Amino acid sequence: MPEPLDDVVRLRMKRQARRDTSVELEIRRRLHALGYRYRVDHRLEPSLRCRGDIVFTRRRVVVFVDGCFWHGCPDHATAPKNNAEWWRQKLAANFKRDERNRQALEGLGWTVIGVWEHEDPGSVTARIVDVLGVARTGG
Ligand SMILES: [Zn+2]
Repeated sequence: MPEPLDDVVRLRMKRQARRDTSVELEIRRRLHALGYRYRVDHRLEPSLRCRGDIVFTRRRVVVFVDGCFWHGCPDHATAPKNNAEWWRQKLAANFKRDERNRQALEGLGWTVIGVWEHEDPGSVTARIVDVLGVARTGG
């Protein structure tokens, strides 16, 4: 396996991590202001190696805030030129794992909301609130 962490990639990863965090924080801030309470980075099911970014345990609603690079956003995903094949496989594996987790969670009665880091926190919050409303009346 080649060494993937040249300086360019290292920088990209750092930037990515910071962006993920700020988008998620903004969504959390808005939900909290609306009176919603949730768990953060919460292990969802004992049988799954999978943590939700924002989790409403009682309503079984989970939000994943995904980085455009790591999770292959259709608008912003770019493949690094160095070690291109290593990255292609790595990102494809991420995508497969996301898909597998989502299906497993839905099978266990979870409602899964996927959010891209490039999305507007206001409209994302509105979407989450919509889903929570449905989950509440549903039981
Ligand atoms: Zn994106």
